[in-house]
Amino acid sequence: MKCELCPRRCGVDRSVETGFCGCGEKAVVAHSMLHFWEEPCISGKNGSGCVFFAGCQLKCVYCQNRSISRGSAGKEYSVRELAELFVSLERKGANNINLVTPDHFALQIRAALREARRLGMTVPAVYNCSGYVCVETLRALADDIDIYLTDFKYMSSELAERYSSCPDYPDRAKEALCEMVRQHPLRVYGADGMMRSGVIVRHLILPGNTADSIRVLDHLHARYGDAIQVSLMNQFTPIGLENYQEINRKLTTLEYDRVIKHALSIGMENVYIQEKGTASESFIPEFRPQ
Ligand code: SF4
Repeated sequence: MKCELCPRRCGVDRSVETGFCGCGEKAVVAHSMLHFWEEPCISGKNGSGCVFFAGCQLKCVYCQNRSISRGSAGKEYSVRELAELFVSLERKGANNINLVTPDHFALQIRAALREARRLGMTVPAVYNCSGYVCVETLRALADDIDIYLTDFKYMSSELAERYSSCPDYPDRAKEALCEMVRQHPLRVYGADGMMRSGVIVRHLILPGNTADSIRVLDHLHARYGDAIQVSLMNQFTPIGLENYQEINRKLTTLEYDRVIKHALSIGMENVYIQEKGTASESFIPEFRPQ
């Protein structure tokens, strides 16, 4: 079968070769853990049950997870093994199952979620993605995903091309977000404050590019208003950016404040912002609700 799961649409048969994401047919899990530093409505006190999948269809030049995204380091999981992993994370107390960089294994994940539900999984499934996703893939997941935790990286196709080799990112991300909100038009929380279903949009501000961040916020607010939760991230960490000197530094406080002020000035109410000093090689994000 030709793979067209993501907008790269490589058209390769992944049973015999790999496409841009570098992954074959079987899901490869690089790491799994209870994660306590996602957004508060995702991590809560018990943590989010993160499953980090190997490979990625973007490979951004500033990626902070190169060891995972650039290759297939990790262990192959059958659908049954993946389902059992989800269930075991819930048994450890996970508030949800957080599928990190899932797009290139979307169909295996869907099958595993269905098997995990049969095995007793009850917590929400979180689709934690780059935003560069095909609408058809999202539609295939409509019955199985409770929360979309998606990036919206760029409004500028020039930036998308330079840093992520995908000039069509803004168009694809807009279409994908539209489908995510169609599936989950409301943000629903439990009595414990944990999100049960809905859409959270993350935006990582790039140094020297606050104007594009402001365009992203304008789009999100004009199109979706309070239907989505926004998470504004200041954690940009300059690693391996010798050929990209214009972003080879941390974000300044002034730049972050400028974007936050804009969010407030246009009336955004559901915005997570991060504490200062979160950009380091051993970054551990801390969120506080705005
Ligand atoms: S999932 Fe991988 S092989 Fe399939 S279209 Fe995307 S990058 Fe290409």
